[in-house]
Amino acid sequence: MSAARAFTIGAGGIISWLACGLVRKGIGTLHVCDGDAVELSNLSRQLFGARDVGKNKAVRLARNLRAQGFCGTRLTAYPLRFEELVALEIMPAVDLVVVGVDDHAARLAVMRWCAAARKPAVFIAVSPDADNGYVFVYKPGAACLCCVLPDLVRLGEEGRRPCPGAPATLDVLLSVAGFATYAIDSLLMERPRSWNFRRVFLSGDGEDCAWAVPQQPACPVCSGEDVP
Ligand SMILES: [Zn+2]
Repeated sequence: MSAARAFTIGAGGIISWLACGLVRKGIGTLHVCDGDAVELSNLSRQLFGARDVGKNKAVRLARNLRAQGFCGTRLTAYPLRFEELVALEIMPAVDLVVVGVDDHAARLAVMRWCAAARKPAVFIAVSPDADNGYVFVYKPGAACLCCVLPDLVRLGEEGRRPCPGAPATLDVLLSVAGFATYAIDSLLMERPRSWNFRRVFLSGDGEDCAWAVPQQPACPVCSGEDVP
């Protein structure tokens, strides 16, 4: 864990708790990027306080994470969106990427980058009604997020569309952050994981699943035929 270098795309509700766990576990290097500023409505579910409001999320999250670590984690914040980092060619060298953004265009951009760069990635998302969320684990050569969610290419190309004002959703965020933290452990060390797609429903109104989704032959992204 101390040798691992992770990059979180997003520094909001999902990443707050996952990053907290990684720093407490003693991850060696953690890079965080986010172009958004902290809003007052974020405070009920994200690792920010009143003094962070109006300031960049990545910078403030990295600052707040300092109090969580005691194993010498190196923290770096980029007050930029992932697409801006790539365009500026300042992506740092990392071992894995963790994606906690709130729009399909950014998820698609990161998925394409990881497929081309052959980087493992963990994607995390929650539903707008805060009842369910999923964790997807990408490993180079295996199914990508578009194999699981074929609509992602179409939705992602429709442009950036952040989710509307979400309610206080700390419960679902903590739930998926736990599965995602486990998934990261399974990528870095010998912890068993038989799934690459896991969805959980807080209400029980849907069926939780732990699927091993195979690569789809028609998937444009991981077949290499995808030209953005
Ligand atoms: Zn694919």
